[in-house]
Amino acid sequence: MRDISRNASKLKPEEAFIYLAKALELQKKGREIISFGIGQPDFQPPKHVIELAKKALEEGYSGYGPSAGIPELREAIADFINESYGSDVSPEEVMVTVGAKTAVFMGIISLVNEGDEVLIPDPGYPLYESAVIYAGGRPVFVPLSEDEEYRLSYDSFAEKISSKTKMIVLNYPENPTGSTLTESDVRDIMEEAERRNIVVLSDEIYDRYSYDAPHCSTLKYEGWRNILYYVNGFSKTFSVTGWRIGYLITDKNLVKKLETVANNIYSCPVTFTQKAFADALKEGLEWFKPIFNKFKERRDIIYQELNKLEGVRCVKPRGAFYAFPNVTKLQEILGIKNTITLVEKMLYEAGVLALPGTAFPGKLGGGHLRFSFAISTERIKEGIRRIGEWIDRQ
Ligand code: PMP
Repeated sequence: MRDISRNASKLKPEEAFIYLAKALELQKKGREIISFGIGQPDFQPPKHVIELAKKALEEGYSGYGPSAGIPELREAIADFINESYGSDVSPEEVMVTVGAKTAVFMGIISLVNEGDEVLIPDPGYPLYESAVIYAGGRPVFVPLSEDEEYRLSYDSFAEKISSKTKMIVLNYPENPTGSTLTESDVRDIMEEAERRNIVVLSDEIYDRYSYDAPHCSTLKYEGWRNILYYVNGFSKTFSVTGWRIGYLITDKNLVKKLETVANNIYSCPVTFTQKAFADALKEGLEWFKPIFNKFKERRDIIYQELNKLEGVRCVKPRGAFYAFPNVTKLQEILGIKNTITLVEKMLYEAGVLALPGTAFPGKLGGGHLRFSFAISTERIKEGIRRIGEWIDRQ
């Protein structure tokens, strides 16, 4: 088929997958690669969740279900979120989706019109820009500054608002920088958005990976119903990226419309995983504590080790499982102009994969690398030792 539609042509791929394929190819040829590439946790889903999924399958949860998700799960999510954040979400304001990704995509295509401006963090997760362009909107990047630990500050947000601003995308803890927002950042941004009638699409999928302060959700903001489109999911917390289950919380009239959108695209989310989580959420997140502690230790180690490398400067990641070091000096020292060349050399010559910051839309990713630290502390140390040796050999 040659004539791809104008609409489909607007969509951009997630570049991360290109580098993962390259690393896999090398591994197939027998090279041992340490990969900081993939953005998914390395632990198995908790046993009780696997057992609940098996039980749901045995009980016959194999057919279609409602487009917005099964009622038991919508209720369980509302309870879980309210308990976590002291909010007052009701089940009809919750919609279950096929991963957080469809929640983001459907939100953008359902709210953004031709010519609307959407503020997006720079650097940011690729889906936001792609979906905004698909919807005919105009991405306006809000720079995240290294001096402010890559937090999306109220000032940088306010500076980019125009009469055409329809939406701001928040993502915290953030992919790819590992930054997060403070309680006052969230309040200031939400207040201004409400005053200016700007939709806040807040992707909080890494909320449980907040290392230095409790995550402060946008759902804690009293007037959230007027402006908020909240996205979360189970992929990262429960390590079920392949189970494809996420959710959104927003005004119930919008949920009604989104049901039709979902119905047109995928009919309904996977049924047995929904049943599993309807039961699993009632058991809380006690099991996650040791995993959280492990990730925090990894965060500390990668932060220390990266900063020991010549020409590398790394801000402390406050959340998610990404470190985003500035490597401009290193590129200068090695005479490498392009960050993609640096990534390829590190992969082929040192056997270590990190992603180029340029894989994340906006203008600011160049001169940076993204390291996913969802691997063991031994592998983290070994990977960075290899990079150090490789630098010394140049
Ligand atoms: N949002 C962000 C910021 C992410 O990093 C990811 C996964 N890489 C997603 C959404 C998508 O999550 P899911 O796998 O649940 O669709």
